[in-house]
Amino acid sequence: MSNHQRRIAIFGSTGSIGTQALEVIASHPDKFTAEILTAHGNEELLIEQAQKYNPNIVVIGEEKKYLKVKEALANTDIKVFAGEKALEEVAGMDCYDLMLAAIVGYAGLRPTLKALEIGKAVGLANKETLVVAGDIVMRKAVENRVPVIPVDSEHSAIFQCLVGETRNPIEKVILTASGGPFLGRKPNYLVNVKREHALQHPNWSMGAKITIDSATLMNKGLEMIEAKWLFNLQPDQIQVVIHPQSIIHSMVQFEDGSVKAQMGLPDMKLPIQYAMGFPQRIKSNFPRLDLKKFNTLSFEEPDLRTFRNLVLAMEALNKGGNLPAIMNAANEVAVYAFLRNRVNFLDMTDVIEKTMNKISFIEQPTLEEYYQSDGEARTFAADIIKL
Ligand code: NAD
Ligand code: MG
Repeated sequence: MSNHQRRIAIFGSTGSIGTQALEVIASHPDKFTAEILTAHGNEELLIEQAQKYNPNIVVIGEEKKYLKVKEALANTDIKVFAGEKALEEVAGMDCYDLMLAAIVGYAGLRPTLKALEIGKAVGLANKETLVVAGDIVMRKAVENRVPVIPVDSEHSAIFQCLVGETRNPIEKVILTASGGPFLGRKPNYLVNVKREHALQHPNWSMGAKITIDSATLMNKGLEMIEAKWLFNLQPDQIQVVIHPQSIIHSMVQFEDGSVKAQMGLPDMKLPIQYAMGFPQRIKSNFPRLDLKKFNTLSFEEPDLRTFRNLVLAMEALNKGGNLPAIMNAANEVAVYAFLRNRVNFLDMTDVIEKTMNKISFIEQPTLEEYYQSDGEARTFAADIIKL
């Protein structure tokens, strides 16, 4: 292996972000190798990926699938590990250059913290990590002098707008939101929508959890909190605007009033590749944006009376402490239940709100307290739904 290749550890390689990251690696074998691949339950795809990309290590989350993976890879020298603990242990191994954090939800937090602890750069897709414990995660990154490079398209846009602006304070950031499949709809309509409908996102094809979050606008709320930690902002410096075409991926306004935007067709491979190659831009053959094909780029206010999850997230953003962690846990439980037809679309908001009101507030939690708040919130939310 030549030493200019960057060794990538893809945590969550079988997901929507993970598979696209592997496509980027496949297109640039001179620049990247897949060093670690991890999956939760999809052992078939993990095995297939391992055979194709020949990583050093794979981890299968579900321990009962260990033997199957081990046997399938017996004729290779790929090391196989299993279980939740192994994720963290492998993240702590000094065999890669950059972790692509593409696990969904709270489960991504511990391995990401471990990567930062041992001084690895992180390309962060897993926004829940920053929602739960953003202060601790970013402090670890600063202490160990490693970058956290956003993969989320909005934050990648802001990050790209900030290149060359290190000395210039941000006045505010404007996060764009597509509005999801139910843009313009009212509660009397939303009360009846089913999972199949909510899973149809107009512009992006993504994992189930983030697709539901996009339909409820919780995704944008999580992204506001993500932006706070990534760019060290006050809550009132973070604004959301609905932009249904998803061409402007987000904007930064500087103190002179100038606004920079980053644009492109909606394709997650672009921010994934940018994070993997940073600070270099890598030539790509992705389809190019032709603005003449878009008659209008439009912008509007989010409908906060209908999409109340965004209001709850703003409250969590403003209040801080363990409230974002509590909200995130309740949301994960609520989305899980909605995907199994156990609650209706609007009930998700009630579950989150009740949980946020119930679990004790801690202003400056330790990591252990974040873990505890997550657990308490999950138990309480699951109880409401009778999961
Ligand atoms: P996904 O559901 O498609 O994939 C999730 C991956 O995480 C899979 O590889 C799965 O095996 C693994 N995983 C799931 N639960 C796990 C657990 N308990 N322990 C260990 N591994 C587990 O999700 P996705 O759409 O790829 O999203 C991944 C992350 O990236 C999310 O945090 C999401 O918010 C963020 N993100 C995704 C997109 C997108 O376009 N998909 C865009 C922006 C941000
Ligand atoms: Mg996003």
